[in-house]
Amino acid sequence: MTDPLARPPLLQMALRIEHDIFLVRQRGREVAAAVGLEHQDQVRIATALSEVARDLLHGVGGADVSFHVDDGSDGRCHLRVDLAPTRPLPSDRYEPQSGAVARLVDRLGVIGVGRDTVVRMSRRVPVAAQALTQERLAELRTELGRSAPGSALDELAAQNQQLIAALDEVRSQRDELAVLNEELQETNRGVMALYGQLSEELEETNRGVVALYAELDEKSAQLRAASESKSRFLANVSHELRAPVTAIIGLGRLLADSASDPLTEEQAEQVGLIRSSASDLLTLVNELLDLAKAESGRIEPEWADVDLRPVFGQLRGTLRAVATRPEVQLVVEEPPSPATLRTDEVLLGQVLRNLLHNGLKFTERGEVRLRARRQDDTWLLTVTDTGPGIAPELHERIFEEFYQVPGATRVGGTGLGLPYARRLTSLLGGSLHLHSEPGRGSTFTVTLPAGGA
Ligand code: ADP
Repeated sequence: MTDPLARPPLLQMALRIEHDIFLVRQRGREVAAAVGLEHQDQVRIATALSEVARDLLHGVGGADVSFHVDDGSDGRCHLRVDLAPTRPLPSDRYEPQSGAVARLVDRLGVIGVGRDTVVRMSRRVPVAAQALTQERLAELRTELGRSAPGSALDELAAQNQQLIAALDEVRSQRDELAVLNEELQETNRGVMALYGQLSEELEETNRGVVALYAELDEKSAQLRAASESKSRFLANVSHELRAPVTAIIGLGRLLADSASDPLTEEQAEQVGLIRSSASDLLTLVNELLDLAKAESGRIEPEWADVDLRPVFGQLRGTLRAVATRPEVQLVVEEPPSPATLRTDEVLLGQVLRNLLHNGLKFTERGEVRLRARRQDDTWLLTVTDTGPGIAPELHERIFEEFYQVPGATRVGGTGLGLPYARRLTSLLGGSLHLHSEPGRGSTFTVTLPAGGA
């Protein structure tokens, strides 16, 4: 801000008697209008001035009032009114009687000017600082000096005008408010309707979801029941079949026995066929029984700390008899030590035997290899062969009951070995996966937790 003393005031006047309050108010409005404040701001500053003037007249007997224009640091002018009290303010403080007065102007407070204290108020003028040149200010000074202050009656009339304008303003604002209220109510009604619709839709959807869940529960109960009765049926049928099939095998052996009556060559051949078919049937029946047992949860693993080395040794021994092709080598690697895991030794043996058996069955040349690898908390047991391999789209199908890859070399089998092996692996808390490509062999991986299920 410029030094307040640098420019002469626009107007000065004394506040000594009651009538002066009117004059201060009136002149305040005139000065505000002269420097370019809007009508509303003129009324604001005039009102603030008359309030402060009344306070000072009654409090300290009056004041010298001066109006100034300052250049603000924001590039705008500020209208400043200083009221220098005729007697010092009590404890150099000033609080307007009405707290709302301070809100009518930008600043209102007591400041020290030299040794005196002055009540100062200011309001920003909307015109640019350049517009109020020294010349213009000098003109204003002369104009204001020339215009004679009106009477109290004039000021009263002016105040009446202002009151009417303010009432008009209030009325138009009230009308606007009524319109806004109406709109708000309309919107509210819309929102409520939308909310109602949404809640209804939500409820509808909820009911649908609940019904769907009930249906799902029912369907899965039906599925469970169907699967249980399938297992029960398989178990019963295979159990019932086992005795007659065993009897057929026994009878066949008796017929072919050298102690029995000799058979013709053709009879011997037919008895041989009966015996081999019956033993195929017995294998199927036994495998069905095993699978049915595993699926119905009737197999309980017997958990123990198992050393893989003797398990592998036994597999090496028993499968050597199956590996009859000289072009195929069976390699059972020595597991890395310590080779212990918590599992059921018998079930694990069945799984690995099954996989090795398949490898030897389907591989015509090369090798079938069993290897154990420890990875953090799991054991990976892999059976790799150099056989025909399996197309990716069949990788899951071969784990289905009775599924056999079509066109594969007719090597016999039931299609029950892999589903059984997978079932046992999951009973042991692990998983069984296949990695294979046609022409590149197959790798079956049994993953088991080292600490058991
Ligand atoms: P099975 O061997 O008694 O036919 P499995 O359930 O053990 O029944 O195997 C299902 C099918 O998966 C087999 O018939 C065969 O077509 C395929 N398969 C299994 N193991 C291998 C393998 N190592 N190499 C190629 N094909 C295999």
